[in-house]
Amino acid sequence: MQIFENKGAAMGCSNPHPHGQIWTTTGLPEEPAAELEQLINYRREQGGVNLLEDYAKLEAEKEERVVFKNKTFLAVCPWWAVWPFEVMIIARQHKRALVDFDDEERKDLAEAISDVTRRYDNLFETHFPYSMGLHQAPLEGTNAEIEASHFHIHFYPPLLRSATVRKFLVGYELMAEPQRDITPEQAAARLRNCGGELYRNKLQ
Ligand SMILES: [Zn+2]
Repeated sequence: MQIFENKGAAMGCSNPHPHGQIWTTTGLPEEPAAELEQLINYRREQGGVNLLEDYAKLEAEKEERVVFKNKTFLAVCPWWAVWPFEVMIIARQHKRALVDFDDEERKDLAEAISDVTRRYDNLFETHFPYSMGLHQAPLEGTNAEIEASHFHIHFYPPLLRSATVRKFLVGYELMAEPQRDITPEQAAARLRNCGGELYRNKLQ
């Protein structure tokens, strides 16, 4: 079950307001399937520990790619990011899916999402476009698949230099591999500087 949200005309969104969709398929789609394979391998090879929990710990210690954190979640620009201001919100403890969170943790998730999207809007003072999706345990996975799953959210935003200048994945990036226009450390630093009140509220 893939939960996702597209925002903005730049992401092919026909409605002016952000809206979410849920698609359910009989098999695991490619991206979450490739992730899950590595989560399962890591858990098996490292003796039951969780790859994304370890990754969140490492990023929290290093701080240089962290955009926001609260007790339950860490928002980072991952070092493998393809999009200039790509962000990943990761559960800091091992949680398999949305249903694993209690009320307090759900509030922390809402806080993390609203913090990241506010920073995005403040960055270029625009309604920042993105495609955002949740990755979590499959509905009908095997025990190994469900136990190795680790709840996280990806934000894939297209903007690069301004509210109108976006990144295009073409040429070498399409034929060979993605190239970074700015480093994830630079992206995280700029997003850290965009906290506080939403720019639209300040203008009123
Ligand atoms: Zn993922």
